[in-house]
Amino acid sequence: MEGGLKPMDSEQLREYAHQMVDFIADYYKNIENHPVLSQVQPGYLRELLPETAPIHPEALEDVLSDVQSKIFPGVTHWQSPNFFAYYPSNSSIAGFLGEMLSAGINMVGFSWITSPAATELEMIVLDWLAKALNLPDDFLSTGLGGGVIQGTASEAVLVVLLAARDKVLRSIGKDALGKLVVYSSDQTHSALQKACQIAGIHPENCRVLKTDSCDDYALSPKALSEAITHDLSVGLVPFFLCATVGTTSSTAVDPLLALAKIAKDNGIWLHVDAAYAGSSCICPEFRHYLDGVEEADSFNMNAHKWFLTNFDCSALWVKDRSALILSLSTNPEFLKNKASERNLVVDYKDWQIPLGRRFRSLKLWMVLRLYGLENLQAYIRNHIKLAGLFEELVNQDSRFEIVAPRKFSLVCFRLLHQQDDDSANKVNHDLLDAVNATGRIYISHTVLSNKYTLRFAVGAPLTEEKHVVDAWKILQDEASTLLRSL
Ligand SMILES: *Cc1c(COP(=O)(O)O)cnc(C)c1O
Repeated sequence: MEGGLKPMDSEQLREYAHQMVDFIADYYKNIENHPVLSQVQPGYLRELLPETAPIHPEALEDVLSDVQSKIFPGVTHWQSPNFFAYYPSNSSIAGFLGEMLSAGINMVGFSWITSPAATELEMIVLDWLAKALNLPDDFLSTGLGGGVIQGTASEAVLVVLLAARDKVLRSIGKDALGKLVVYSSDQTHSALQKACQIAGIHPENCRVLKTDSCDDYALSPKALSEAITHDLSVGLVPFFLCATVGTTSSTAVDPLLALAKIAKDNGIWLHVDAAYAGSSCICPEFRHYLDGVEEADSFNMNAHKWFLTNFDCSALWVKDRSALILSLSTNPEFLKNKASERNLVVDYKDWQIPLGRRFRSLKLWMVLRLYGLENLQAYIRNHIKLAGLFEELVNQDSRFEIVAPRKFSLVCFRLLHQQDDDSANKVNHDLLDAVNATGRIYISHTVLSNKYTLRFAVGAPLTEEKHVVDAWKILQDEASTLLRSL
């Protein structure tokens, strides 16, 4: 078979890809037959697979049969209609087709010249999405800003933190790095902490401001002001604020208008992280949660969470693209070309950490075109309605309480337990384990004001009302069993 390998023979591609599409379609058809949360033990796969790679080719049928019998048991089925954990990570046919096309073309679009369509489509599609979200014109690529697709919200916050850091250091000198201070709340995603570690921000200069249940876990402008005043008085340099619209823990919404004013008065870069809840802001009735974003320097939402775009696709917009480019650009000889040299084009390699990048805008473009904004709005509204239904069911059962107000499609709730806090927390922890061990639904947890809290996030593309109603029955049954056993 020496030299006989034809890895991209178009007839074999047609045959195998059709088989694979059938296999995936059957997977979706039968997705509810699998336990939602994988029930395997650590290391399970090593016992099932050979020690070394095959010397000779194997048949696709045999590989697919192993996927069925050995891989699927170790998969947690995020696309199951009974997946209510974390936040959703949507698939859709449009997103899937976009991924397929992107894999098919398989170009590496780091500079405009390496595939002009990849760069230009990304700019256009992010302008479309910015308009759908009613973001200010400053974020559009037609001005000094623009959008870029990052892999994840974590990369998004890292690149803007680097841009903001270097911007302030350019004016006060590199030696001041140890004086730079970052502000966020104790509800801000841990991605910010990681970004600070990478960016060399002194750990003692990361202000994690405490939130309170009486503010619904939103960042208090007063607490921010006080922290800034104190830091200035001891000679530190406030430079970055990360506000969140829809926190990961409980969908808290930080008051952007008030925070933006403080940030502006102090020359602080304001980043707005709306990784999950941003999608809902294409609906006019939820757009008010973004009021104040006009004053932000950067804004991020994950199309791969709740916007039917297969992972990964995190949309980031900045007002001043030159700040990103000054931090992240390189210009090695082997990448030099006329279009870049003459400054006629965007080279997205200068807006991100890696050099190489995929044609991710295709899938977002397919989602927007094959569904249209009206259907996308209806999709979001339906999940929010289903979460409202779940909340009502919780409220009707006096053994439970709602822990934080519901704003989008996440319900935070817990089983009441009339003893000390520790045993109440343990009961809820046990309930979570019992429910997830059934394999019938998957939910996750958080801790709010020291209360172990269950999170029920509606948002998988196959979830319907009956799944929500059944999930609640499972929770009630497991709660009854647990309470009887105490
Ligand atoms: C999910 C989430 C993140 C992290 O998203 P990744 O894309 O996985 O990095 C950050 N912030 C918020 C508010 C989130 O909900």
